[in-house]
Amino acid sequence: MNSSESLFQRAQQLMPGGVNSPVRAFRSVGGTPFFTKKAHGAYLTTADDRDLVDFVCTWGPAIHGHDNEVIREAIAEALNKGTSFGTPNPYEVTMAELIIEMVPSIEKVRMVNSGTEATMTAIRLARGYTKRNKIIKFEGCYHGHVDSLLIKAGSGALTLGNPDSAGIPESFAEETIVLPFNDLEALDAAFSKYGEELAGVILEPYPANIGLIMPKSGYLQSLRDLCSKHGSVLIFDEVMTGFRVSAGGVQEKEDIQPDLTALGKIIGGGLPVGAVGGKTEIMDCLAPLGPVYQAGTLSGNPLAMAAGIAALKLLKESDAYQRLEKMGSQVQEAIETTLQEIGLPAQIPQVGSMFCLYFSEDPVENLQDATNSDTDRFNKYFHACLENGVYIPPSKYEGNFISTAHEQEAIDQACDVFVKSLHDL
Ligand SMILES: *Cc1c(COP(=O)(O)O)cnc(C)c1O
Repeated sequence: MNSSESLFQRAQQLMPGGVNSPVRAFRSVGGTPFFTKKAHGAYLTTADDRDLVDFVCTWGPAIHGHDNEVIREAIAEALNKGTSFGTPNPYEVTMAELIIEMVPSIEKVRMVNSGTEATMTAIRLARGYTKRNKIIKFEGCYHGHVDSLLIKAGSGALTLGNPDSAGIPESFAEETIVLPFNDLEALDAAFSKYGEELAGVILEPYPANIGLIMPKSGYLQSLRDLCSKHGSVLIFDEVMTGFRVSAGGVQEKEDIQPDLTALGKIIGGGLPVGAVGGKTEIMDCLAPLGPVYQAGTLSGNPLAMAAGIAALKLLKESDAYQRLEKMGSQVQEAIETTLQEIGLPAQIPQVGSMFCLYFSEDPVENLQDATNSDTDRFNKYFHACLENGVYIPPSKYEGNFISTAHEQEAIDQACDVFVKSLHDL
């Protein structure tokens, strides 16, 4: 008995909530999560032998779809040489060269094993470099499950109703100042009040763990200017947007240079990888050169590096971003047109291969707006899509992703399902 239903029954006896990461449990949309037994291209095959067009793409990493041949062969080649050495290896150097070449602000980089480790290290670095304690984060931005950043956080924390996690001492939270996104006045006020105590500001430059929110014109530049003026470290968390919205992430698209950048997801090619990079002066504060300690038994793992290098090269050496933008706009237009036809109030922000659908009358500019969007309607829409063979994220607070493996057929099929599901609401 290996149906999703029976696997989930067993899993719930063995693992909290039956899952190893909370949003997978379908708690907010309801129903039993399906198990995936294999995946190829744009499709997942469930334990119940259904094929689904996948718009979750492993929550961001799978920009080349699943089971990509080039990445698979890169891993296979590395596998033949051993799985972990505990010494420096040649792949790490190639990986660092690629990241530094592709991401404008990065001069030096440290590889880690997840996005969480990347943001955690970036915060520690900002504090170690400035010798200050306080940091600013924004409501609804998610930076992994780092203690000081799990305050008014997005993604699963928000989906499951605990954006302020239990288990975090108040004394930690006191060092984190939380502001609404896109509110320049609040930002100015915080800098006036705390200026000399602020180690840094961390943000998702396009917040994508509460759906997808675009910064107002000039907002990111103001943030850059304020940080420079007050000697605070500007940290872009591009774990989601890095290599996704362009080869150089949001910072390239918007032409803003952060001091530090957190990366993850796509750079692992489907294996567990993260990275933090930035200005040499700040990065050299890391051990063994500097006093800020950070380490990892499996960091720079040869299999993970091989997969990541293959994924980045595929992006660098192709017209991937043009194709992704084309597919993204097609989906956006199909949904937008339908919404207008049936007179349903909703917003569909899209940038390249990222998009989301808010059932909301007004444009969504911050956490409050996103929270106000219609949850019941989203949940009905989610289940309608799933029944018709399309898997979108099981929460109104998560972004959809398209991969280069979403050929025209998959996009057309999905658009038909989106349209039908909207009509059926
Ligand atoms: C996913 C994500 C993280 C956390 O990465 P993990 O690899 O899940 O630890 C951090 N920041 C952003 C913006 C993310 O989307």
